[in-house]
This record gives sequence, C-alpha cells and structure tokens, in this order.
Amino acid sequence: MRRSMPTPSPALLLGVVAMLWSTPAPAEEASALDRVLDAIVTREQALDETMRRYGPLVETYLQTLEPDANLGVVPQQDHYFLGRLDLSGGADSPAASVRARSNEKLFDLFKEFYTAGFRPDGFAQMLVLGSKSFDREHYEFEFVRREFLGEVRTLVFEVVPREKGTPGRFIGRIWVEDRDYNIVRYNGIYTSDAPGNLHFDSWRLNMTPDTWFPAYVYTEESVFRSNGQLKLKFRGQTRIWGYEIKRRASEEDFTKVLVDAPLAADRGDTPGHISPVESLRAWEREAEDNVLRRLEKSGLLAPEGAVDEVLQTVVRNLEVTNSLDIQPPVRCRVLLTTPLESFTVGHTIVLSRGLIDVLPDETSLAMVLAHELGHILLGHQLDTKYAFSDQMLAGDKQTMEQFFFRRDPQEEEEADEKAVLLLASSPYSDTGNAGLFLKALSARSAALPALIRSHFGNRMAKKDRLVRMSRIVESAPELYPSALNQTAALPLGGRVKVNPWDASIELMRNNQVVLLSAREKMPFEVTPLMPYLARHEDRRDDAEPEIQIEVGVGADGIGEKEARQVARHGRLPEDDGDSDANGRPDPPTAAPERETEVW
Ligand SMILES: [Zn+2]
Repeated sequence: MRRSMPTPSPALLLGVVAMLWSTPAPAEEASALDRVLDAIVTREQALDETMRRYGPLVETYLQTLEPDANLGVVPQQDHYFLGRLDLSGGADSPAASVRARSNEKLFDLFKEFYTAGFRPDGFAQMLVLGSKSFDREHYEFEFVRREFLGEVRTLVFEVVPREKGTPGRFIGRIWVEDRDYNIVRYNGIYTSDAPGNLHFDSWRLNMTPDTWFPAYVYTEESVFRSNGQLKLKFRGQTRIWGYEIKRRASEEDFTKVLVDAPLAADRGDTPGHISPVESLRAWEREAEDNVLRRLEKSGLLAPEGAVDEVLQTVVRNLEVTNSLDIQPPVRCRVLLTTPLESFTVGHTIVLSRGLIDVLPDETSLAMVLAHELGHILLGHQLDTKYAFSDQMLAGDKQTMEQFFFRRDPQEEEEADEKAVLLLASSPYSDTGNAGLFLKALSARSAALPALIRSHFGNRMAKKDRLVRMSRIVESAPELYPSALNQTAALPLGGRVKVNPWDASIELMRNNQVVLLSAREKMPFEVTPLMPYLARHEDRRDDAEPEIQIEVGVGADGIGEKEARQVARHGRLPEDDGDSDANGRPDPPTAAPERETEVW
C-alpha cells in the first residue's frame, strides 16, 4: 500500500491507508460477500446430504396457551409427536402431512410418523433449509450485523425469497459462524398457502469437527382477536437426539461378541455352584438388561451416566434409612422423552426426562422413586420372556408396542402404600412439597393429556384425577398457583440437558433466578430454548488445547488439566463438590446417614 505514491503529504497518506484498511473498494467488497454467500449455500447443501445418513429421534411437544389474569398464560391443550427423522428422500421431497390430533393413541401417531417418514415439509425444513431451493438464485441475502451466540462469532443475514408468493419458501434471518460459514441458527417462517405455519427458531450444535447438526427448534405463534387482544398462543419445543446411536450400538455388539466368546468357554471349567434363587435372579437380570439395551439402542434410553447416579443416591438414602439390602442392587436410568412417567424394569427404575425436569425438589423425586422401589420390594415381576434374545430383535415401532411395563391398579395401590412407609422413615418424611407437586399436576392434567400419557409405564394422572400417591396429597398444604413462595412444579426443559449427538445427559446447573411475578413460574410449561453455542474443539474439557502450555504439578497446586482449563477459560472450573482442585476426592465427612442434598 505504501508503494510509489507521488510524494504525498503525511496527512494525506494516512488518510488513504485508513480508507483502504477500513472500507475495501466496492468491487472487492462485493466479491468477499459473494464468497461468503456461496460458502453458506454450499455448506447448507452439504448438510442436507449429510443428514440423509443419520436417523436421529425427533420429539415435538406443543402447548396451546390462553391468557390468564394472574399467570400470564395457562396451557389449554397439548400435542405430542415422536418419530425417527428420515431425510433420505431429501428435505424438499413431497411428503404426507402430519396432523396434530392429540386424542389419538400414541401408537397411531408413531405409525403415522413411520408412514410419513417424518418428512412433512414444515418439520423437516425447520431442521434443514432444503437443498434444491436454498441458493442465491432463489433468495436475496442482506448482511445485518455481527453477533456472538455463546462463544461463537456469527454473521447475521436477512433472507427473503426473490419470487414472492411461491409456497414453501423461507423468510427470516440466518446466523452463520464466521470460520466455515455454516448456518448455526435460523428463525422465521415458511410461506404457505395453508394457514397454521408456525414461526420457528432453529438451533444447531457443532457435534463433529466440521458439521453443525440440527438440535432444537422452538416454535411460537400468537393468535389475536379482532380487537387486538391475545386470544391464543402456541409454544412448542422440538428436540433432536441420538445421531450417533446406531453406530455405537453396532460397535458395542461387536465388542460384546469378542469379550463374551472366551468367557463362555471358561464357564465349562468351573462347575456350577449357583443356587436356584441365584440363577432365578441372574435369569431375571438378563431379561432386564436385554430390555434396557433395546431401549438404549432405539435412542429412547440415555446411556448410563452421572444423572443415574444422582437418582441412585436418593434410592440409597431410602434403602439405608429403611435398613434394606436389595439384591441385585437397584439401578436408575433415564428415558429421554418428555411425557411424565416412571416405571420399573426388574430392579431398574426408569424416570422420564420430562418428569425429572418438572419435579421441584429432592423429596418429590424421592416420592417417585419410593413408589417404584415399592414395586421392587413387593416382587412385582418383569416378564422373563425378555431373557430370550429373539424377543429383542424387533424394530423401533415394535419396541414401543412390545414393551409395556404397566401394573394393574392393585399393584399400583400396593406400591403407593409401600412408598408412604418408605418415605416416613427416610430423610424425605416431610412430603409437603411433594404433595403440592401432585396437586399442581392434578390441576393441569385435564389441559395436558399428551404430557400425562405415558409411553411404557403407568400414568401419574388421568384426565379427571390423580392416580398416584393420594395419601401424600391429603397431607399437603393448600396450592396457591400464583404465590411466589410456592414452587410446586418447574417448567419443562430446565433440568436435564441432552447431548443430541450421543444422547448422553447431564444435570444443568442453573443460576438461581428470583422470580419477578407469577407468570414466570410456568409449571409444566414449554419455554423458549436458547442453547449456548461453542465450537466442537472448545466444548470438551479433555480436548487438546490449541496452545500447549508447559505446566508441572507445581507449588501453586494446579495440575496439567486444570492449567489447560485456565489457559482456555481464564479460570478454574467450579468445584463440583466431589473433588478438590487436584482431582482428589473430598475427605469423607463423619459417616452421614444419607448423602448430602443431591438435587
Ligand atoms: Zn407403579
């Protein structure tokens, strides 16, 4: 830039340099923008191709809300869909439409999704913009601004179709990360001939080094009366998870064969010393493991992890204080779906993600677990036909239809009675808030039939009444829905975080937020989703840092892993309560009767 200019005055030279530096010539600018726009279109088309190779589960839960003087809005009706995403025909392919008919049985819905392949234009296009039509020939792009989403720098563009009036075109805004120009978020609406298209906000996460996969969609729409007053509102969450499940399951199958083969041969050397009771237990455990494995393979059950341990801690608190020694030990797992349910498979207690989300405190959680523990203690059986592996080879739809873990009303009542006794002699004997939870559930159950309709286990409520733990309700205080000092139930989506790639879960550590008004209580309600975006390499703490820093475990007492975290985040991670900064477990405190609050 400073090459042979004809003796300019210093001031003029500075001016020229500044001009060149800040604003490129119009032609240059245009070509830079062209390159970015071309890259965006190319990346989006590549995603459409990539998505055809995966079949994650897609769950949509939608609530219709109506205005309420005290609570802002209250749910009036709800709808639920669950299916496996199939874009193998492409997001633009014509597909049967799926109608929201919540009074149909779940399995009809499931069947409908399978026949439709879950490809109704609206839903699929909320995940991928579409291969054929999403290009610069069909759309105009206008740069708006730069913006951070979480840790990721993005460029924001307005996108409008060039041809007005063509149905199925996207109008809205896209956020594009500034390195490879992948769309990481887009929100807007699709043009349609038919009414009822929803506004949506679609988010993607950087799940592999070079791909941002669809993870969440939040939908919202308001319907106004002619006088401008709010008449109805829809709010919906779509969650996508389990991209990696099929691959992992088949890898596991292979490892299992390798590991099992020599063991099977070894067994011949050791003569059997297994008592009839032990072999019965082993047989039942095998049936239990088969079922869990099948559920996990379908993407319905989260892989084993830290959340299970939190639940198991509460179960242990109940066991220890009731002097119980249950063999084989009781385990806990999490079903990844939203409808509120709990059930028992052999000695494994399964709670749904939605249920864990809305439970307000540890005692309410203990109440749910105590009921299931009741079934286990009373010897309510799992059908051991599941111990035969041929029973496990069914497809997803069969899995849903085949696995019923429902108990008859008498067994339900017995488990309730047992649970009341277990809770009474446990640290969870003050069941006031658990009773409030049940009251709140009962108050909303008529409006939320899809939320209380279980996939596998027993319902907690029916449309007209509660069917769980009535004695706990009797002893609970009065429920005041608009009182800020009562938290009877939480909104959906606030507690369990699902990793959309491998379906693993963790508990979120939310900041305690002081509620301003009753309209922020939102019990059992759908809320907007705003994920915190980060690049793939920055997301895992054990990932290699970009800059290697030489640190020993030195006088300042931080180890290499921590040093890397400091290098990356500028601070040490929060103490998780289990270990000190050196990774050593915290010293045990004087033998507690129960573990400290885990919820
Ligand atoms: Zn039950």
